[in-house]
Amino acid sequence: MIKFGPSGLCEQFAQSGYKHTIEAGKWLSEQGLNCFEYSFGRGVQIKSSTANEIGQEFAKNSVEISVHAPYFINLATQEEQKAENNHRYIMDSLAALKAFGGKRCVFHPGSPLKSARNEAMVTLLKRFEEVLKLKEENGYSDLLLCPETMGKKAQLGDLEEIIAMCNIGDENIVPCIDFGHLNSRDCGIYFTQDDYKRTIDRLLEGVGESKTDRMHVHFSKIQYTSNGELRHLTFEDDIYGPPFEPLMEVFAQYKLNPYIVCESAGTQTRDALAMKTYYDSLAK
Ligand SMILES: [Zn+2]
Repeated sequence: MIKFGPSGLCEQFAQSGYKHTIEAGKWLSEQGLNCFEYSFGRGVQIKSSTANEIGQEFAKNSVEISVHAPYFINLATQEEQKAENNHRYIMDSLAALKAFGGKRCVFHPGSPLKSARNEAMVTLLKRFEEVLKLKEENGYSDLLLCPETMGKKAQLGDLEEIIAMCNIGDENIVPCIDFGHLNSRDCGIYFTQDDYKRTIDRLLEGVGESKTDRMHVHFSKIQYTSNGELRHLTFEDDIYGPPFEPLMEVFAQYKLNPYIVCESAGTQTRDALAMKTYYDSLAK
């Protein structure tokens, strides 16, 4: 089933007098949304008992929770100590995900830093294999790990690099396609249905039908420069894009079931709902 929801708590949630994530499950379901991404951007700091309570409340309201692993992970690192830390951040994210009762964990692959891009990619794939082994050993084989396409040209995580990562893992390694990021790193590539179809068709060919059907999606309009992503905008923007309407049309035509997380700056719940409302109108 296709799902729509926000990343983190939005301005509207706070303005409505709510404070804690546990209150968001009911609030989101009342608005017709059915997923939520909990970000561990600055580190995994949640007690498993708290995650349990939040997870139960969200389950009662049929809102699925996914997690975003810390932003400082870099699987292309040459340093063993840093690699070990990265592995632990991902395992901690998976532990929290399990406590939430969720299924999906998104993470940023990393950056080449001083290495050549192709060499960095070799290191990254080797490290990722280590992560996948740990994932099995720690009993997380049923959880989905989603490497994300990134918005800056200097970062690893263009579409082909994400496809390569998905192909070294089993069925539970599915792509996180951040269309705002891909649009930013190439300075504006999505305008029409055909533009989005090129990406979806490449995924179908590159990772297959099942992983494409279950892909994780991040969507927001993003301001960019020649180096790529600069900052997240809201759906008010009509300069940078990309537009969500043609993407929703393609999802409906291809009958895909992605998990769509809106990452607008502050208006992510309202904008997730705008996508869902538009998608639902296509079915009528
Ligand atoms: Zn991300």
